Amino acid sequence: MQSTVTPTHCPYCALQCGMNLTPAPDGTVEVSERTDFPVNRGALCGKGRTSAAVLASNVRLTSPLVRDEDGTLVPASWDEALERIAAGLGRTRAAHGPDAVGVFGGGGLTNEKAYTLGKFARIVLGTSQIDYNGRFCMSSAAAAGIKAFGLDRGLPFPLEDIPKSGCVILVGSNLAETMPPSLRFFTELKENGGTLIVIDPRRTKTAEQADLHLAPRPGTDLALALGLLHLVIAEGRVDEEYVRERTAGWEDARAAAMAHWPEYVERITGVSVPQLRETVRLFCEPESAMVLTARGPEQQSKGTDTVGAWINLCLATGRAGRPLSGYGCLTGQGNGQGGREHGQKADQLPGYRKLDDPAARAHVAEVWGVDPDSLPGPGRSAYELLDALGTDIRSLLLMASNPVVSAPRAAHIEERIRSLDFLAVCDVVLSETAALADVVLPVTQWAEETGTTTNLEGRVLLRRRAITPPEGIRSDLEVLHELAARLGVEKGFPTDPEEVFEELRRASAGGAADYSGITYRRLAEENGVFWPCPAAVEAAGDPAGETPAAHPGTPRLFLDRFATPDGRARFVPVSHRAIAEEPDDEYPVLLTTGRVVAQYQSGAQTRRVAELNAAAPGPFVELHPRLAARLGASEGDPVAVVSRRGRAVAPARITNAIRPDTVFMPFHWPGEGRANTLTNPALDPTSRMPEFKACAVRLEAVEG
Ligand code: SF4
Repeated sequence: MQSTVTPTHCPYCALQCGMNLTPAPDGTVEVSERTDFPVNRGALCGKGRTSAAVLASNVRLTSPLVRDEDGTLVPASWDEALERIAAGLGRTRAAHGPDAVGVFGGGGLTNEKAYTLGKFARIVLGTSQIDYNGRFCMSSAAAAGIKAFGLDRGLPFPLEDIPKSGCVILVGSNLAETMPPSLRFFTELKENGGTLIVIDPRRTKTAEQADLHLAPRPGTDLALALGLLHLVIAEGRVDEEYVRERTAGWEDARAAAMAHWPEYVERITGVSVPQLRETVRLFCEPESAMVLTARGPEQQSKGTDTVGAWINLCLATGRAGRPLSGYGCLTGQGNGQGGREHGQKADQLPGYRKLDDPAARAHVAEVWGVDPDSLPGPGRSAYELLDALGTDIRSLLLMASNPVVSAPRAAHIEERIRSLDFLAVCDVVLSETAALADVVLPVTQWAEETGTTTNLEGRVLLRRRAITPPEGIRSDLEVLHELAARLGVEKGFPTDPEEVFEELRRASAGGAADYSGITYRRLAEENGVFWPCPAAVEAAGDPAGETPAAHPGTPRLFLDRFATPDGRARFVPVSHRAIAEEPDDEYPVLLTTGRVVAQYQSGAQTRRVAELNAAAPGPFVELHPRLAARLGASEGDPVAVVSRRGRAVAPARITNAIRPDTVFMPFHWPGEGRANTLTNPALDPTSRMPEFKACAVRLEAVEG
């Protein structure tokens, strides 16, 4: 084992905090402060501090597992496990065609892995059926950003701009729990005299920091944004010159907003007219202001329009593409940004290219050395893919995802997974989904491999290998290399991450997310590089891209022009729509879901860390005292939450910090308290995002 200190980044959320790793003689790894990374300057949350615990062999898989004749998962050799996967996927392909084989990836995969997985699906399996769990994360914001700006990069400016802005509206983000080190940007904003407005149905730890907290009814953020824009127009606060010079489509958006009178919006959202007016004043008076959205407005069946409405507000007030101002999305997963740029999405090729664009297909096919016509077209989105398991899709290869816990309508999805002819899972632990597999492969973790991620700012980062993986563990890249060879493709699937990155640079060149000017050496020396970073003209012939003329990267986007053909941002006319499933007599309460600070996503890793488990041992139902009284429930009593899709039971947590018409459940746990048993898979027509954030439920007391 190496004994030096290795600077790297956290394996969990999209902040990608810098950390140092030091192997100890007893085989453990110490996580320590790394102050040179500007995003966290040494600060780590509990998840980051304890991240090395998942490297220990007593919580992870250490051998491939195959299902024996009795249906039990038993240890097997790598050869046997890989042969079984190749045979399982190959059998399906031969019997039912390539689109009967599905591939499901994850926003936690490095750029190199996401790129290789997309390439593997399209040229080894020949399937169009690939998507990933990031579809459930920020896809609505991505779709809205592309519509409005011609480009989706979570934040078009560095986090360090936030404290210097005049006002920030945080819509549906509880970053005090999801990414605690980022809270300092907002406390510094306030210390500098700026204003923080938080919009959330719950008075979260983040909302407690706000100068103004608006608590709309879940699923009504679209109406709220329209009401604010109505007031901006009515109060003469539109930046007419900016709208004229830098945008298109204002008249239709203006007309749509004018139909949303403040009193009407108050009735829909529950946010009072004076609060709306105060929000407009605080947002419009300073020279600079931002709107940042997260999963609250995005995880809705109208998420794209909802984000579009907030972007319209930024455009009408002349905020987007101006210094210290604009719209940004706080992407959630560790490589949520890079994971959506390099080809594991159903409709995309590397470089954030569209799969149905002939020029994009030709460019990528040339890099891959294949005929463009051999590349399949776009496939199903994540929920639709999971819903087709066992019917149209007979076999599945899954990496870095745990849909049994994290997919909406999870009991149904679990049933679909169980009905597959063949399931192979690569993971570091035996997740709830891996436990259903025919073959499970144990793979390396972040500290055991080198690779790049792209954080929520669009900053490409180098994660470095700090320790040698245990005997018997292989990397995802090695797995894909081995499977490709067994399925008849001997070349084109290198196992060295830097070699993959060099190919990714070429594949992304000229695309929206252009990495062609980025090298591992630059990432190490510059502590990350913001895309787009094309290889400079002078450097184009230099394979290392390291001449003095190399492009510096792009921390701030849109300052001169937007990424549309004419350089103008697009207003998108949107109108209020109800949530897909409104409460009624049978299901009279709204359920919204979210996260707690000590757990991450489906909890597959963090539920195995003792310190985190002690801090957040299980699910709960957060409800208002009035609702609890109606139910006759006291603190800690088991409460059943029932939707049209199923029933979940968890202890009551009674608080005034939530609206009386709404209950909240965190979604990190499987079993009886699985929140996603209840959630609604109604999909956004553009982004195909399910409606995680609002569905109708009823509450039932549970006899002790
Ligand atoms: Fe890791 Fe995110 Fe916590 Fe930072 S905030 S330590 S990146 S989980």
